Amino acid sequence: MLNIILMGPPGAGKGTQATHLVDKFHLPHISTGDMFREAIAKKTPLGLQAQAIIARGDLVPDDVTCALVKERLSQDDCAKGYLLDGFPRTIPQAEALEKMGEEIGRPVTLVIDLEVPEAELIRRISGRRVCPKCGASYHIDTMKPKVEGICDRCGAELIQRKDDNAESFKTRLDNYYKSTQPLVDFYKAKGLYKCFDGTKPLQELLGEISAELEALK
Ligand code: ADP
Ligand code: ZN
Repeated sequence: MLNIILMGPPGAGKGTQATHLVDKFHLPHISTGDMFREAIAKKTPLGLQAQAIIARGDLVPDDVTCALVKERLSQDDCAKGYLLDGFPRTIPQAEALEKMGEEIGRPVTLVIDLEVPEAELIRRISGRRVCPKCGASYHIDTMKPKVEGICDRCGAELIQRKDDNAESFKTRLDNYYKSTQPLVDFYKAKGLYKCFDGTKPLQELLGEISAELEALK
């Protein structure tokens, strides 16, 4: 079963890899970041609560995030597997996910971690543009869309995320090292952890991860 977690620091390329992997393996893409951004755009109670937290680069409280994921994982399309992108990000979230997995009979089968050095993360984040409609990511120098400012996949106008600024990025990275990095040992201990070199070219990395997923199918 492909019950997959994609983890890595902000800017590691989770979203980019996820977009390709879900197309290739026909899995639902569960990105907590995208779900929060959608809630913010729609001004739902969740969005109003999360807006300021996300803009400054902090983590949304565990109970809120876990409830959101639990709701999503219990939907029918996750019966054939799922790709979690950006969740869990803390040990309590990982523990909650373990319980959810048991409850719905879909435990995590693989954790993919993308490793990228800090200088490269900064370069990627500062030039990143994203599609607010389909979540695709671009870079102004190294991953340009075919038409400037327009999403290749869906034609929407690209934007720069509010939290893609130097100050919020620092907070996100600090939070990553403090709260998310401990998940590496958590999942290593369970024999689920596999790390990849996130600096490799997109297609090459996609090939390596795909081979791993093929073996799990
Ligand atoms: P990143 O580029 O940092 O991986 P994401 O799009 O995954 O960005 O998430 C954007 C923001 O949404 C995070 O910085 C955080 O504020 C919030 N968020 C996303 N996932 C979680 C989570 N699992 N727990 C808490 N907050 C989260
Ligand atoms: Zn798009």
